[in-house]
Amino acid sequence: MICCARCGLEYPSDTKIWRCTCKGELEYQNQHKDNIPPPEGLALRPHSIWRYREVLPRLEDEDIVTLGEGCTPCVTAKWHGFPVWFKLDFLCPTGSYKDRGVSVMISHLKQMGVRSIVEDSSGNAGASVAAYAARAGMECTIFVPSDTSPAKLAQIRAYGAKIKAIDGTRQDVAEACQKAVEEDGSGETFYASHNWNPFFLEGMKTLAYEIWEECARSEMIPDWVVVPAGYGSCALGAYRGFLDLVNQGRLSQIPKLIIVQAENCAPIYHAYLRGEARVAPVRGTGTAAEGIACSNPIRGTEVLRAARKSDGLVMAVSEEEINSAAVKLAKDGIFVEPTSAVVGAALGRLIDSGVILENDIALGILTGIGLKAGTLTHSSGIF
Ligand SMILES: [Zn+2]
Repeated sequence: MICCARCGLEYPSDTKIWRCTCKGELEYQNQHKDNIPPPEGLALRPHSIWRYREVLPRLEDEDIVTLGEGCTPCVTAKWHGFPVWFKLDFLCPTGSYKDRGVSVMISHLKQMGVRSIVEDSSGNAGASVAAYAARAGMECTIFVPSDTSPAKLAQIRAYGAKIKAIDGTRQDVAEACQKAVEEDGSGETFYASHNWNPFFLEGMKTLAYEIWEECARSEMIPDWVVVPAGYGSCALGAYRGFLDLVNQGRLSQIPKLIIVQAENCAPIYHAYLRGEARVAPVRGTGTAAEGIACSNPIRGTEVLRAARKSDGLVMAVSEEEINSAAVKLAKDGIFVEPTSAVVGAALGRLIDSGVILENDIALGILTGIGLKAGTLTHSSGIF
């Protein structure tokens, strides 16, 4: 069943809608969810997010569209003098963590018989949706901001998707895409928006399951988990996954979530700083962290609530901090896009200011590979 987060209206899971009639965002209520086995019971499962089948939406085997997403490595690093962990989630099949959610979203759309989709994206999600649509045999059109990194556009095109480049902000791109769906009178094309789709978020929960499985083997669970946030799917997915694990008795408590935005576009941070309950839109300016340049996050208020409920915090980092963290990560062999470098920047500041202590276990999730952002990092003077 899917349920509107705003008015509570319920719909069957196979209803072809992307938001409620009240314009509220939808949530998936998994009525078939079973408890996950202990780590030793998972050893022989597939090496992908589908190893956590009990907690994912129920799908027939033939509808699952997978490229082996997830099961990404965690590596240690010395960061500002302290040992930390980085989860290299940019090693998913299309070079970003988005593949987790997209695999679940496209599988669900396949099960519903959807043959044609459109999506708007700042680049990485578009590439991911294009890849999984290609694998599912769906027609796909991706709306992108006209200043999207050329390598991301080339990747989307390579998978066979059509590209519509829109001048304007990320919000303008989303609105242009929604308008195109409304104007398509056939009703054949589905708006497969990773930011609106509730099944996408279900896939993002696997981040938490993986961290738990990896750490349970060494009997270490992180005190802090650091994530970048634009629309906040990484933060919300991790929070909900950890919450599931606590409810199942697999974890004693949720790690403190550190949610990081770019100073130049930080609506969630502004609400956090002012002690507000709701996130209001901001007018963002440019940032090298293009993947999180979101001025009006759909589930922003819930992301803010997740930070507070986990006893964590929301931060915003400067362009200088982002550049310097990207360089520092690369010098340690880890090449990520500026959007991911915000995690390193936040960790650095929290270590330097004594919030993270030497014996704390801190894990940063690195979401996007550096290879696609070459023009961007060059024009920003990072590399
Ligand atoms: Zn509603």
